[in-house]
Amino acid sequence: MQRIVVKIGTSILTDEDGKLSTKYLAHIVEEIAGLHKQGAGEFIIVTSGAIGAGMQRLGLKERPQTIILKQTAAAVGQNILIEIYEGLFKKYEQTIAQILLTHQDMSCRKSYINISNTISKLFEYKVIPIINENDTVAVDELKFGDNDTLAALVSQLVEADLLLILSNVDGLYSSAGELISIVEEITPEIIKISAGTTSKFSTGGMQTKIEAAKIATQSGTTVIISNGKTKGIITEILQAYLTGGKKCGTTFVAKENKLNSRKRWIMYHLKESGELIIDEGAKEAILNRGKSLLPSGILDVKGKFDEGDAVIIKDTQNRKLAKGLIGYSQNDLLKIKGKQTNEIEQILGYEYGEEVIHRDNLVLLESASNGYPQA
Ligand code: GLU
Repeated sequence: MQRIVVKIGTSILTDEDGKLSTKYLAHIVEEIAGLHKQGAGEFIIVTSGAIGAGMQRLGLKERPQTIILKQTAAAVGQNILIEIYEGLFKKYEQTIAQILLTHQDMSCRKSYINISNTISKLFEYKVIPIINENDTVAVDELKFGDNDTLAALVSQLVEADLLLILSNVDGLYSSAGELISIVEEITPEIIKISAGTTSKFSTGGMQTKIEAAKIATQSGTTVIISNGKTKGIITEILQAYLTGGKKCGTTFVAKENKLNSRKRWIMYHLKESGELIIDEGAKEAILNRGKSLLPSGILDVKGKFDEGDAVIIKDTQNRKLAKGLIGYSQNDLLKIKGKQTNEIEQILGYEYGEEVIHRDNLVLLESASNGYPQA
């Protein structure tokens, strides 16, 4: 059974004036309900539109810029949005569930597992979860920021086979104006041609979609960007995906996933609180010899973090090498950096372990390896 995340952007949910409209959503819901009933897959919807719906109800002409106004609009609008989904799915006797997430929920391992368990149970009951960011409680630095990223992280969480990003464009266009049908590798050129485009009513342009595609493909999910205004698009995409037929939109090919669930969580769901600069010996040991990071290789410590936080490891040329969960606080590390492991206890008065970052808690970044994160 295919697991499919469908991201529905603001452009599908609103008309030209930014007013909430079910013109396209009604078709999408009909399609998803039908495919779900036929057993074509387990569906999750990641929807935007809460702020848009709130704007309309509050009489705001432009998308709010301040966080408090965004939160206010989302609080009013989320309710309206989910009512629309409820009404549309009810016609097909399809039960839905509302899940509102913040980045913070996903970066706590316990709640991350809870969310995943809840979604599995909802699938068991044949319910379609409708997910949005919990804009009302998320503060800026803890936000996903846009629903493209949220959809990619949800795909990663549920180990989705397919992520469909539906917006008002047919896919990614080359600089010569041609639709790119397949992207095997998200190269800097691809990122460059996606730059630009945001609208008055929505959050991300093509660039956030490509960045989301990068996260999702690296986690083993195929990503397709397509036009949600085209009738029958989901069925068409699914058929092409399953049969290898003519592709619609732009397909981003999934990477073979090399990371286990815990490392994927470290890599994609934790925000880093600091940086460690390491010497060439330590760099060689973690990149090429599968070793843990020891205090002796650490040259410098930046940021403010406690034991258990995520940090980025860099070389002396400021290249990002790895991300990991740190075993010591930044205060401790400032004292033990450059020292041998057998000196830790003497310096600090205690020892949590020989490693500053144990190999099990360390993920090599794509910039340091051959194209995607590695254990
Ligand atoms: N969470 C926002 C909303 O529902 C949308 C963010 C986005 O569109 O990327 O309004």
